[in-house]
Amino acid sequence: MISRAEVAKLLEVRTAGPSLLSLYLWVPLDPAGLRGLPARAGELFALAARDGPGIPAAVRVGAADARAVRGLLASRGRDWLGHTVAVFACAGLGLAEAIPLPCQLQERAVLATRPHVRPLLLAIQHCPAYRVAVVDRRHAWLFSIAGTKISTAALPPAEGVRSHGFSGWYGLEAHRVNERIIQLARHHYHDTATLLEQTARASGAEPLIIAGHQDTIPQFLAILPAGLRDHFAGSFVADPHTLTPAKVRDLAGRVIQDRGNLQDQHIAAEFLREPPDGRTVTGLSACLAAAGQHAIQLLLVPAGGLVPGYACQRCGALSSTGDGCPHGAPGSLAVPDLIEELAVATLCDGGQVETLRDPPGGIAARLRYAQPLPLRVTRSIGLDGAAWPAACTCCDADAPAAAQPPLRDGPGWT
Ligand SMILES: [Zn+2]
Repeated sequence: MISRAEVAKLLEVRTAGPSLLSLYLWVPLDPAGLRGLPARAGELFALAARDGPGIPAAVRVGAADARAVRGLLASRGRDWLGHTVAVFACAGLGLAEAIPLPCQLQERAVLATRPHVRPLLLAIQHCPAYRVAVVDRRHAWLFSIAGTKISTAALPPAEGVRSHGFSGWYGLEAHRVNERIIQLARHHYHDTATLLEQTARASGAEPLIIAGHQDTIPQFLAILPAGLRDHFAGSFVADPHTLTPAKVRDLAGRVIQDRGNLQDQHIAAEFLREPPDGRTVTGLSACLAAAGQHAIQLLLVPAGGLVPGYACQRCGALSSTGDGCPHGAPGSLAVPDLIEELAVATLCDGGQVETLRDPPGGIAARLRYAQPLPLRVTRSIGLDGAAWPAACTCCDADAPAAAQPPLRDGPGWT
C-alpha cells in the first residue's frame, strides 16, 4: 500500500526537463488481458506527448522509458491483475519503479519534471487498508485487507455452556444459564477487542469494520475501547460461518466505499458552511492566486482531468497563461497539470489535499488567513491569468503593494 511518506519521497525526484514518465495503467483481472497492455500503454504515451509555447523541445516518451515500461509489464503484469499500476520511469535518472495500487483509477500518462502524484493521493484517501472483525458469541475472525491482499486470523473458540444443561431447564435455572452465556460472550468480545488493539498498535490505525449477526454487532461495538471505536467505519450483517475471505472483502469494500462517499459529502458540506469571511475560494484562478501566497490550508481537488498551464522557473508562479509574474512568458515552462502543481504546492506548504468527486467550483481552497491576505507576496499570479508586478522570492524585485490587485474582488472568490 502506498503511503503519504512514499509520496513525499517520490516528490523529491526531479529532472531538469519534462522527461519523467508517470503512467497509471489498469491491469485487467483476466490474464488474457495482459497481451493488450503494451498497446494500451502506447496509446497513453501518445496522449502524454506535447509541444507548443513554453515547451523548449517536443516532449515525447523516450524509447528507453517505453522499453522499461514494456519490460515491467511483461515480467510483473501477472502480479498486478485487477489493479491499477503506477509506473515511474526516467532513463536519465535510472528510474523504473512500479507501484500496484489498491483500486481502479483513471488511466493516464504524464511527462513532467517530477512524478505525477494526484492519483496516489486519491488512492490513499479512498482506498485505505482496513480491518474487519467477524464476530459471533463464541468465534472471531480478523481480516486485514489491503487491495486484493487479505490476511486472516481466527481466534480459538470461546468457552461455551454445555447444551444439555440448557435444553431441558426452565425458570430460574434457564435464566442463570442465559446469564452465563452472556457473560462468556462478553469475555470473548473483550478478548477479541484486545487482539484488535494489539494489531492496531503493530500496524497502525486503520478503519475497522465489524460483521456478524444482527444482535452481536451492537454488543461487540458496546465493549470496544474508545481508541478502536474512533476508527469504526461501519458494519455488515452476515452469518459468520458462511463467509469466505473473498466475500468479506466484497461486503467490507462496499462499507469502505460508502464511508468514502460520506466523508466527501461531509468535507464539501463543511466547506460550503464556512462563513463568507474571505477564507474560502473556489475556481482555478482563485486557487492559483492563493497558492502563490502559500495561503492554502485545505485544497479540494477533482479526481479526474488534467489542466495544462505554466510554472515560472524563477519564482514558481503558476498560471494558465504563462505571464502571471514579473518574469513573464520567457521564464515560464509549460506544465501538464496545474491541479497537480497546486496539490504539490499545498502539501509543500504544510496544507492538506482532499480529492472529491465534485468539489465546489471544480476546485476550492480554505485559506490560512482571512482577508486581507498579508502584503508580503512571495509568489504572484494574476487572477484569471492577469499579470501584475509584485515581489518575487528569487529576485526580490519588490513592486508597490498598491500594484497588487484586490484579491477579494477577484473572480472566483466567495
Ligand atoms: Zn516568476
